Amino acid sequence: VKQRGRNDFEFFRNEMRVHITTLLQLERDLRHAVERDELEVFYQPQMDLRSGGLAAVEALLRWHHPERGLVLPGDFIPPAEDSRLIVPIGEWVLRAACRQLAAWRADRWPELRLAVNLSPVQFQQAGLIDVVRSALDESGLDPKALELEVTEGLLMDNRDITLQALADLKAMGIRLSIDDFGTGYSSLVYLKRFPVGQLKIDRSFVRDLLEDRGDAAICETIIALARHLDLEVVAEGVERIEQLDWLREAGCHRAQGYLLGRPMSADALERRLSGGVGL
Ligand code: C2E
Ligand code: CA
Ligand code: CA
Ligand code: CA
Repeated sequence: VKQRGRNDFEFFRNEMRVHITTLLQLERDLRHAVERDELEVFYQPQMDLRSGGLAAVEALLRWHHPERGLVLPGDFIPPAEDSRLIVPIGEWVLRAACRQLAAWRADRWPELRLAVNLSPVQFQQAGLIDVVRSALDESGLDPKALELEVTEGLLMDNRDITLQALADLKAMGIRLSIDDFGTGYSSLVYLKRFPVGQLKIDRSFVRDLLEDRGDAAICETIIALARHLDLEVVAEGVERIEQLDWLREAGCHRAQGYLLGRPMSADALERRLSGGVGL
């Protein structure tokens, strides 16, 4: 027994070592990803449920790793946050996406809006507002076309630096959007305290919307809350036409999900939507 316990421990230690080495390696590779041009912004369309047209795109980061191939954000955003590499990477995403959107609005879709995810780590850094302002200035993108997605956790952070940054973004005309709404903290006080402009219903509530009365009630309640507070409401994770119909009936403004399009390269989005057929 003793012997075996020891072997288990050895095994665990080796596993840990592999895990840590992989993480460190990932972090080291990520450090060079921007300069080596390995990052790409993908865009996932959002449909305006009233008109059926393309309302917005969400920028979702992709990493073309030289050996591992395509790496998804679930695997590299957490280590990027731990190492604070998310600060330069997030800045790169914002600049690239603003440039792309300004071009699309000039050439094809004058009303198109852009959603970009911001990590709470980016708010801990004093330069965030300057970065946002310069991304808008250099691209010429209208600040009213920009939506910044944050999670509820950020709004529980009462630090002055966060509150000030949110107030500054609002003053610039940028819309603050609460991502994964309903999955974080239960207090809704922050909806009054912060300059929130939009809610994104988490895809865990949308998934079983048609089968689960509890999920349907949650979606209905979020949509009603948004209406009463004068907020835009976007449903994510829409995979079935019946979910889309349900959400439209319920008064949801926009939908995003595999049914309407997966996240794709800028070229792929243009090809897919060329000819003006809409979504
Ligand atoms: P998120 O912000 O909640 O983004 C939505 C995620 O759901 C995306 O995963 C998207 O591909 C996926 N998705 C969209 N429609 C559907 C659907 O119909 N069904 C299912 N099952 N999934 C759907 P992705 O691209 O892997 O991104 C994962 C997360 O990584 C994002 O979740 C976001 O939190 C983070 N992330 C992505 N890009 C960035 C970025 O540039 N900066 C930061 N800070 N975080 C990012
Ligand atoms: Ca998001
Ligand atoms: Ca989300
Ligand atoms: Ca999510």
